[in-house]
Amino acid sequence: MTSQLTFRGRIQEAFTAGVPVAIETATRSRYQRRLAAAAAFPEMEATRDRARDIRSEALRNLDAYLGQFVDVTTERGGVVFFAADAAEANEYITELANAENVRRVVKVKSMVTEEIRLNTALEHAGVEVVETDLGEFIVQLAGETPSHIISPVLHKNRYDVAELFAAELGVEYTDDPAELNDIARKHLRERFLNADMGISGVNFAVAEDGAIALVTNEGNGRLSTTAPRVHVAVMGMERIVPTRADLAVLLEVLARSATGQKLSVYSNIVSGPRRAHEPDGPDQLHVVIVDNGRSATLGSSVAEILLCIRCGACLDACPVYRHVGGHAYGSVYPGPIGKVVTPSLFGLEEWHDLPAASSLCGACQDACPVRIDIPRLLVDLREQTVGHASRSIRTGLAAYSRLATRPRLFRLATRAVALFGRLWSQDGWLRRLPFLLPAWTRRREVPAPATQTFNDWWRKRGA
Ligand code: SF4
Repeated sequence: MTSQLTFRGRIQEAFTAGVPVAIETATRSRYQRRLAAAAAFPEMEATRDRARDIRSEALRNLDAYLGQFVDVTTERGGVVFFAADAAEANEYITELANAENVRRVVKVKSMVTEEIRLNTALEHAGVEVVETDLGEFIVQLAGETPSHIISPVLHKNRYDVAELFAAELGVEYTDDPAELNDIARKHLRERFLNADMGISGVNFAVAEDGAIALVTNEGNGRLSTTAPRVHVAVMGMERIVPTRADLAVLLEVLARSATGQKLSVYSNIVSGPRRAHEPDGPDQLHVVIVDNGRSATLGSSVAEILLCIRCGACLDACPVYRHVGGHAYGSVYPGPIGKVVTPSLFGLEEWHDLPAASSLCGACQDACPVRIDIPRLLVDLREQTVGHASRSIRTGLAAYSRLATRPRLFRLATRAVALFGRLWSQDGWLRRLPFLLPAWTRRREVPAPATQTFNDWWRKRGA
């Protein structure tokens, strides 16, 4: 995963292109729906605590739970493969596709397959890949990448989709949502019936009985995992939970936090391939468990991020995400979660600017159903990225550190800055900061400094 531009460059690009209004509207409305769903569920806070405990227990004993899951899945006729990285996962799946003479794959929306760029690997191997989640289908048709982890097509409105369908599917233009849905359904139905392999992600895998839980709102998960003769489930290695009872708790917070629903419309539980007495289901089930940097994250100071259940609530709550949209992050994981996951999985060296893209307002932590302290993790990553800061930032920080450790000089400097600020201000506001700081006032005004510095006020108060 590489990024050609810095975060700042991608934001400039996003603003130049015009960040779609749909992002702000959709995130705000879903944020409100989540609040309403939580208010209507008196046990919400206790369930969040329980969900966090379950995820923490799973991470504490990850080896044991993964081992238990592998044993049960194998007993039931499934095959489990551990992939150390994206290349190993893609190689296993493409080789399997070749061995099984797979010509077409239907896919259910899955963040981990986006992360490892599985579609590209399969297409290079000559396999047709069809995304079956409506949002992913639209994004694939447009040749774009998802902009939100729950709603991949959040950046488009129905008129964009109408034009896309008319151009790419050769249908008559319509911007009626029901008709657009119908067009997609008809197009996909035929693909489901003629697919040789179904690929899904895994919302949660249950250690005690090898169950794989997959939640969707469109029913495409059920079709993709039962109609084709081979089902491949790809999961990040942290997506394990100990028991079915634990799964029930997590599904309760996942649906409410993701979409404000009590429960997602389809909660599919897959346990092994089709048995002899069962009328349908795949002949083969392969579970690919992907590490791809997760073990290293587990041993790091930001291991808490592995508690994440990919609900997307932190994106909807984040003022930065609402203003810049998902593509500005340059990663498959945007928003607050992405600012921690992306540098952790793909390297701080390349992604050092993401942890800085936050005001640390804490809205993400408030929204997170498993109470991940994202601001703390961002501060931690920022500490690790000081060496990557630009020369002007490093010079500024060094100068500040000299000043802040010399009280008399610090007092003089703050008085001088306050005086200068007042002289520079108009009607109590600084409209354009000088020297290296004009970016601060490009889109906002700064209040003029107080007539008395904090230091002077404190000394006077003490006296
Ligand atoms: S960090 Fe929390 S709020 Fe954000 S996607 Fe993960 S679980 Fe959801």
